[in-house]
Amino acid sequence: MIEERSTGQCNCGAVRFEIRGRLPGMYQCHCSLCRRQSGAGSNAATIVRREDFDWLAGLDSISQWRKPSGFQSHFCNVCGCPVPNPFMAEKYLWIPVGLLDGAHSEIVAHVQLESRADWDVVTDAPTMLPHMPENIDDFIEYLYASSQR
Ligand SMILES: [Zn+2]
Ligand SMILES: [Zn+2]
Repeated sequence: MIEERSTGQCNCGAVRFEIRGRLPGMYQCHCSLCRRQSGAGSNAATIVRREDFDWLAGLDSISQWRKPSGFQSHFCNVCGCPVPNPFMAEKYLWIPVGLLDGAHSEIVAHVQLESRADWDVVTDAPTMLPHMPENIDDFIEYLYASSQR
């Protein structure tokens, strides 16, 4: 059996990474932080387990910004792309899916719809939430379960 792999990189190629196994479902967050961080109406991301993730290059090219509330943004200090960042004691990595070379997955949830921009057009997904899910572990399980097509 051939194991599925996904690779990704920032615009300049300094930061590169790989995800092993089937990619979980993806989600878009429409909150103001994600909006500014992405420069768009929402970001598009997924969350993977640490053991399924490998850095291939560029750890020393990553800068970090952390808001006291806990929101964090890691980005390539050469080209400015958002890049994966670890959270929950490095149990998981948040993955900006626009960096993936090809994503065999789909958007399964929109979150923070209550704070979306007036001009933001949102297409239907199986899960539409006005806020962030309260239980992030359950949300991650949902993303993984959504990839069992
Ligand atoms: Zn870069
Ligand atoms: Zn957000």
